[in-house]
Amino acid sequence: MIKQIIFIFLLGFSLPLYAQDFSGVQIESVRIDDNFYVLYGSGGNIGVFTGEDGLIMIDTQYAPLSGRIADAIARISGDNIKFVINTHWHGDHTGGNENFNADGAVIVAHEYVKRRMSMEVFLPLYNSRVMPSPIGALPTVTFMENISFHSGNESLKVIHAPNAHTDTDAFVHFEQANIIHMGDLLWTGSYPRIDVQHGGGSVQGVISAVEQALALADGDTQFISGHGVIPEKGTAYVESYLAMLHAVSNRVAGMIEQGMSQQQIIAARPTAEFDAEFLGDNAYIDADMFSRIVYISLSK
Ligand SMILES: [Zn+2]
Repeated sequence: MIKQIIFIFLLGFSLPLYAQDFSGVQIESVRIDDNFYVLYGSGGNIGVFTGEDGLIMIDTQYAPLSGRIADAIARISGDNIKFVINTHWHGDHTGGNENFNADGAVIVAHEYVKRRMSMEVFLPLYNSRVMPSPIGALPTVTFMENISFHSGNESLKVIHAPNAHTDTDAFVHFEQANIIHMGDLLWTGSYPRIDVQHGGGSVQGVISAVEQALALADGDTQFISGHGVIPEKGTAYVESYLAMLHAVSNRVAGMIEQGMSQQQIIAARPTAEFDAEFLGDNAYIDADMFSRIVYISLSK
């Protein structure tokens, strides 16, 4: 037992959160609508809405990239960033908050984003320890269920998805532009990471959130994933992602019912038929980890 505690303790401190080298990261901006851009870099995909009364930015990637992100946004519009909306609390989506806040943006997020960012969090599944964020990085406007923004003739709704990728998630629906930024509720080219251990996430919650978003969508909707290249317009990719989540969950649930252990379930490879699509070159987790996530989520 003592050995285990020391092991976790050492791991926590031997894996600094930003061990990554960002020097080679370039920010690529892609215009997907008259007033909407997606910025790829390192970390969660950023959305930028160029409204009539200032810019609204969704997620901020990592702090060392803020200068490059601000430059990319300045090339899109000379307006100031009025609001930053965080899809959830993870550092690859909120790392730049403090810098953009210092430049005058108001940070808006679910109440639990503020709570999680304010405390030290250990995520055993990923062996990572996250230290509390500085005050300037924390959301200053928070909500529990939904919050709406109105800008010119655009209305955007930020909709909380309970116990999904984490317990802090929200997705953002631009009603006129017909764009839905899903944050880490949706991944392309990778199985989703889900914080099922101590993070308040669940596979069932991700499924519910994706179903809720699909109910708002049609054949012209542009979905934006938290990681990976955004899918083609329409619902086809999101429907296939949802079908994968349902199929793997049902399979793992059946195996749990039969009394199989976590090890046996992972070895049986319940994801096999989907691996070609979700284990791309930029996959964030492997099939074993995803099976493990589903197992932990369903055996709670
Ligand atoms: Zn995340």
